[in-house]
Amino acid sequence: MKRIKSHPDIASHTTTMPKKKKIGLVAHDFRKMDMLDWAEFNRDVLKNHELYGTGTTGGLISEKLDLPVHRFMSGPLGGDLQIGAAIAEGNLDILIFFWDPLQAQPHDVDVKALLRMSVVYNIPLACDRASADFLITSPLMDEEYDRFLVDYGKRLKDEAK
Ligand code: PGA
Repeated sequence: MKRIKSHPDIASHTTTMPKKKKIGLVAHDFRKMDMLDWAEFNRDVLKNHELYGTGTTGGLISEKLDLPVHRFMSGPLGGDLQIGAAIAEGNLDILIFFWDPLQAQPHDVDVKALLRMSVVYNIPLACDRASADFLITSPLMDEEYDRFLVDYGKRLKDEAK
């Protein structure tokens, strides 16, 4: 489904997100309780999709929900970057990322890279529970969705002229 018509200079193509979405789940230590509580509350929706997570977050969610979660490495050891790479390769449709706003992380640069990848590839991203609630209850969760991809390659070429 196309929601809006975009000017070709902004978005030259789209990628179709399937009905069954690949959802990434990441929470920093002080947000893990929040994430677990949110995931448990939304188990009925989450069980219809494919779940991915950083090492610790993924393990905790899998245990709590009794659902399979594909686990990447732990965040500080490269998991955030693996999730970012999955987004770049088109292997992740949605990211729920409860990052800690009160504590600097040893892997802050990785956190920034992951947030950046989410925006570059225009994937739905929620960083707090209210946004995650709105996202997970969207009717688009059960539909195919044509996601616009900005043609950054064209922009870079134009800028180099
Ligand atoms: P973790 O990683 O789920 O392995 O704790 C999360 C993060 O710090 O990015």
